[in-house]
Order: sequence, then structure tokens, then C-alpha cells
Amino acid sequence: MSLSRIFKRLVSTNTIFSSSLPKLTGKQLKSLTTTELLIKLGFIRQPHAGITHWLPLGLATLENLEEVIKQRLSEGQVLETSLSSLSHSSLWHKTKRWQNDELYKLNEDFCLAATAEEEITELVKVYADTYKKLPVLIYQMERKYRDERRPRGGLLRGREFIMNDAYSFDVDKEGALASFNKMNKIYFQIFSDMRVPFVKANADSGTIGGDLSYEWHFISDKGEDTLYTCDNCQVTGNVEKVKPFIDENADAVDKAAVTYALTTDNDLVAFYYPEGRHLNTKFFDAEDIVELNTKITDQEKVLEIFESENPDGLKNIVRVVDLAVKPRTEMPDMPVPFSKSRMSTFEGIGLTEAQEGDLCSNCGGKGHLHASKGIEVGHTFYLGKKYSIPLEATFADKDGEKQNYEMGCYGIGVSRLLGAIAEVLRDEKGLRWPAIIAPLQVSIVMSPAFEGDHQKVQSLIDLLTKAGIRVEEDSSDLSLGMKLNRSKLLGIPLQIIIGKAFPKLEIEVRGKLFGKKGYEVIESKRSDWGIETEKRHGVVKHLVDIEHADETIKLLLQDL
Ligand SMILES: [Zn+2]
Repeated sequence: MSLSRIFKRLVSTNTIFSSSLPKLTGKQLKSLTTTELLIKLGFIRQPHAGITHWLPLGLATLENLEEVIKQRLSEGQVLETSLSSLSHSSLWHKTKRWQNDELYKLNEDFCLAATAEEEITELVKVYADTYKKLPVLIYQMERKYRDERRPRGGLLRGREFIMNDAYSFDVDKEGALASFNKMNKIYFQIFSDMRVPFVKANADSGTIGGDLSYEWHFISDKGEDTLYTCDNCQVTGNVEKVKPFIDENADAVDKAAVTYALTTDNDLVAFYYPEGRHLNTKFFDAEDIVELNTKITDQEKVLEIFESENPDGLKNIVRVVDLAVKPRTEMPDMPVPFSKSRMSTFEGIGLTEAQEGDLCSNCGGKGHLHASKGIEVGHTFYLGKKYSIPLEATFADKDGEKQNYEMGCYGIGVSRLLGAIAEVLRDEKGLRWPAIIAPLQVSIVMSPAFEGDHQKVQSLIDLLTKAGIRVEEDSSDLSLGMKLNRSKLLGIPLQIIIGKAFPKLEIEVRGKLFGKKGYEVIESKRSDWGIETEKRHGVVKHLVDIEHADETIKLLLQDL
């Protein structure tokens, strides 16, 4: 038996999983969410919110996506492993993560793995016990579990998801940062392979000594995250992390708004910031002055609790004043009784989120920030010794001294990535997969006008398969129009119609064009290969002789 990919009949058998498919009207199509569309087209099934069954078409797409990621990691000499989905509580107690509400605890002993820092560190420390065996870069592609209270967004946020998680172990910080940079380069290649426009956003809160991390986002109006990019230094960051540049010589704002919060000791914190802007208490949190109680945010409730906890006026009040609020700014009155001796004030901290047109703090106010929406598809972290210390994970250095590993961790939500690609690229005709992950790259349909021998179609399939192209003939009993419609709905990049013009083939381009390298070569071969191209109703069609079908299709797929 050959070890090449097992041949699957994905299109012809799709009828089993999507009986209503060919009848979808444009209007119905538009009203469907991407998850509903993937379900209707027979890619996945969601028996409960946040849980996904993968059907043949969805599974084939997922496997192609996994293959691209594995290929890039393997080129970077990152080792593939597969850890058990069951993880023992003893490790999670050591890292103080057992209490996490989102962890699926099966009993006192085991949980379903939500991530693998604990297990992988425990594994690596058994083997990489000397500096001579470091660095180690290791990954797995596994199902992960998170007890989401409100799972939503189909593949974008599930209780179970497929994750590519990688980890690096180094002798020192310099080595760890080299591994971090290497993994970021690999991520850049992986997301470039997907063809969807993406950005690497700073996820670092910017505090001195803070950890290094990046979020990887697809740029999309449908994204949940707000990103800001500077038009001068080009740095992008998540709104939760981007601090606008405040010119200290600028005029005072007229009026301050106030938001109250409690500390975990029930002291009161009052944040003063320019009226009309959004407060981000995380910027204050990063200063590590007090610990905020983030569970109670209702303003009346906060003040009520503070007053009831403070009958004798012994509780503290912490005033935190934004950079742009100055002595001339009109301040709201303190709504609770207070004594000045119990009050402290912190000034000069930027407390507000960025907004369109703000100055960029990364380049000292030289550029302006511009908003876009993003879907997060990956995250890279430099961890330092955050896990190796509590897990007592050490190696012997050159002098035989025990040292803790310097670590990094890197994650791509693979099922989420697939959902995000579908979301960003779909159009009014259905899905549009990039050729690299499309379940099939070419579908062949025979027109009733074709009078030749079916063996010729089989020879074409063999020729294309030999050229490494994923191809299938739709041999169902649907009409020609229905077959073409189905192929387009499913997002297959190219359709070949075999009809009267045989041995000339009609090739219809369905996929989104991301480049023109392949097409430029086709242009140069046009007369040699006898290719004719026409565009009708926005659909590009190439007529090409069967003799040059494999070369032409390979070139077309390069751009899709
Ligand atoms: Zn800038």
C-alpha cells in the first residue's frame, strides 16, 4: 500500500452531510453566521455550544492546516510530541493554577489539559538535565479544554479546541530570547502561508521588567479585538495594552470623570481621568500599588460596600489621577465621608485607552494611532522562570550548578484559526479557502455536452494528482449548475468544466487572488500553451488544452 494520502471522496459524499446545500439562496447565505455556514455546508457539526464534531470536509481542511503548521515547525527543528489530555492536579497546585475556574477538573486528581506548561516542563526536566542538551524546542497539536461559561462564536471560542502549543527551554535569558525570536519568525511564516492579512501586536503592558509577548491577529472588520497601529513607527498593539502619548505641556482638560473601585482589602480607589474617555484600570494595576477587586464594578455597590466596611473612617482612599488631569481641571466631589489623613494621591499615570488619532507613546508622540479590528489567532510569550521555579525544573550548568530553565510558550488556536480564515475570506457566494488549506483545490464537473470517454477524465485526475494537486470529480447526480454552485459554496479555489470544447478545459477561478506571480508566468506562456482568458460577471475563466492543464493549474493555485 502506498503511504500517500488516502483518497477521499469529499464532494460527492458531501450530500450525506448537507442535503439542503444546493438550494441556498444568496439572501439566506448572507444571513448565516460563519459557524452556521460551516454546519450547513457539512464541514462541522456542533451538538452543543462550544463542542465541535469534524465531518469529512472540515476534517480534511483542518488536517491541511495542521500540516502547514507542522511543516514550518519541523523546518525550525521544533520537535513534535503528543501529551496525554489528562493532567495531574499535583503539578497545577505547584503553579497555583488548580483554582482556575475555567479548568475542567474531573475529580481531585485529574483535569483535562487546558494548556501544557506544567506537563511539558515536568517532561523536559527528566531528559534535559544538563546544559549540553539545551536549548529544547518542543510542540504538540492536541485537543485542549476550557470550561467557558459562555462559549460562543462557533470555532472561535469553544469548550474543546485544537491547539498547537510549543515551548522553549534555554540555559539563560539571552538564549530564551533567541528562541522567542525564532518562534516569532516561524509564526510569521505560518501566518504568511495563510494569505490572510495579519499583524503582530504588542501584548506587553510596557512596564519595566515586564514579560515579552505578542498577539497575532487577522485584520478583519469582524474581529472582536481593537488594535491601534502607529502611522510613524508602525507598531501595533491591542487597545488593552496601548497607552496614548500624553503631552505634559498640553492644556489641562476642562472636566474629569471619576470611576470608583475597591481593593481586595475594601479600601476605596477613585480614578480621575478626562471626561469622555475610556478608563483602563489595567494600566494602574501594572504599577503594583494596590490589588484591585475586579469582581465588583457597579459604582453604587462599590460605594455602598466601602461605606458599610468603613463605619469609623479608618479605611483608606486612594486617588489616582490621570496625566491629563491637572489642578485647573474641574473635579467631581467625593461622595462618601472621608478624612484627609486616610487619603493618598497618585499622579502622572496614564489611565485612559487610546482612541483614533491619539499620539503614539512608542515613538514619543511622533506618530498618530489608528484603529483596526482584529481576530486573535496566535500568541507568543517569553516566560522566564515563571514555571521552572515552582515546578523545580532545573539543569546542571557548566559548573555543575543547578539552574532553572528560561522558558517561552507559543500557541496557535488551530480550530480557531480555521474558523477565522473562513470568517475573513467568505463572500456572497460562500466560503473561499486559500489553496494551501482548501479541502480540495480543484473540482471537476462534466457537462452533458461532453461526448468523450470518461477514461479521459480519469486520466486528467491522475495527471493532476501526480502533480500534487488535491482534485476530485463531482460524480453525484446533481445538474451541472448545481455542481458548480456547490463547488463555489464549499470554497474550492478552481473548477474545471469538461464540455464540448474538449480537449480544451474550462477553468473557473473561485478563490480569492492574493498575488499575481503565477498569473504572470501564464501570461508569458499564453501563446505557447494556447490559453484563452475571459472575464464574465466578475468570474475569470481560462480555456486551456488538457496537455498543459497540470502546469496551468499549479500556476493558478500559486496566487490563490
Ligand atoms: Zn509610533
